[in-house]
Amino acid sequence: MMESTYLVCVKAGPDVFRVPGSTEHPCADCTSPVWVSKASREAAGPDGTVVCIGCAETRLAKEKDPEFQGLTEGQIREILPYIRTEN
Ligand SMILES: [Zn+2]
Repeated sequence: MMESTYLVCVKAGPDVFRVPGSTEHPCADCTSPVWVSKASREAAGPDGTVVCIGCAETRLAKEKDPEFQGLTEGQIREILPYIRTEN
């Protein structure tokens, strides 16, 4: 079976945080707009399918043996300045 890469993204909206430089893309399944950061786009590769969290759950439920990839170094670098710690 062909392996597919999905990039799971949050839906775009005025109250939703996005990394500066993110662009809006339609979810491949429901066409809702989602934010995709530059590093995320690179992580998913040219054949990566952009899906929203809800549609990702639906797709995952059908996968037999899904593999998860953590954040790449580029993605971590992107979000690091925006992570707040409580102390
Ligand atoms: Zn969707």
